[in-house]
Amino acid sequence: MNSFSYTRATNIATAVHELAEDREAALIAGGTNLIDLMKENVARPDRLVDITRLPLNRIEDLEDGGLRLGALVTNADTAYNEAVEIRYPLLSRAILAGASAQLRNMATNGGNLMQRTRCVYFYDTATPCNKREPGTGCSAIDGFNRMHAILGTSDQCIAVHPSDMCVALRALDAVVRVTGEDGDRTIPFAEFHRLPGDTPHIDTNLGAGEIITSIDLPPKGFPDHYAYLKVRDRTSYAFALVSVAAALEMDGATVTDARLALGGIAHKPWRDPNAEAMLNGIEATKDHFEAVGDAVVRNAKGFGHNTFKIQLAKRAVVRALQHAVRMGQR
Ligand code: SF4
Repeated sequence: MNSFSYTRATNIATAVHELAEDREAALIAGGTNLIDLMKENVARPDRLVDITRLPLNRIEDLEDGGLRLGALVTNADTAYNEAVEIRYPLLSRAILAGASAQLRNMATNGGNLMQRTRCVYFYDTATPCNKREPGTGCSAIDGFNRMHAILGTSDQCIAVHPSDMCVALRALDAVVRVTGEDGDRTIPFAEFHRLPGDTPHIDTNLGAGEIITSIDLPPKGFPDHYAYLKVRDRTSYAFALVSVAAALEMDGATVTDARLALGGIAHKPWRDPNAEAMLNGIEATKDHFEAVGDAVVRNAKGFGHNTFKIQLAKRAVVRALQHAVRMGQR
């Protein structure tokens, strides 16, 4: 680990200023990913700006009926918040499917969005990795790629985003509020994370010197018909091979509105508008759901060890949609 300096920001303006004046600085809150990256010599900030004391640790109702999740609220406090559990149970389930209780107690909402891929080559500084060192190559494409992406890949990187929480936030059409030296702005969740393209070292569209202040949820939370299905190698403390966030509105047996987001298969939480649109107005039958699953993976490409994910994703979509339908029948 390199030596670094440490400062604690006492207000948001100070944190923004400290980040803007030193491009090698990094923000630290829960530190559940950054400290690992520093210990492995993957991240080498010369300065850590501690933001844990900033006033971003509240969950508040919004005037439009939505809910504001402060960037510094822990994942555990978010998952067990009464408003989240009742109005956005899909989000609560997704958060609780991730990491461990200890990590969820430390990790913050903002940090969850900013966590980096768990591609083993990214963490192994003895191997080429375009995300860690642009231009060096991708060890995973011809290497061991069982956990890697099948959609949205490039010839530069096939890593996946590791978050469960973000899959639910993508399904719920959350909005990320950020602030920087040029003021405040909002980023739709769909545009927050990036596909790898030719710049896999850039994970998000957060500007240099910008800080996440909150994640805003729109009023519609799909509390009656939802499911978060996470398929993984063991039932706790493991990243998703494939995960599916399904949220439905139903009129009897007919789907009247639908959201479908997948994790573990792409560089960002994945949503396919065309596949999702196939759900609107259909009878909730297995045959219809299988057609949606086929559509989700129609452009998928396996790289050898991970090719099984194409079939797995199809089946997970069907299973998650069936769970979401049954949820309202209990
Ligand atoms: Fe690096 Fe991405 Fe390739 Fe993994 S998949 S080795 S993160 S470039």
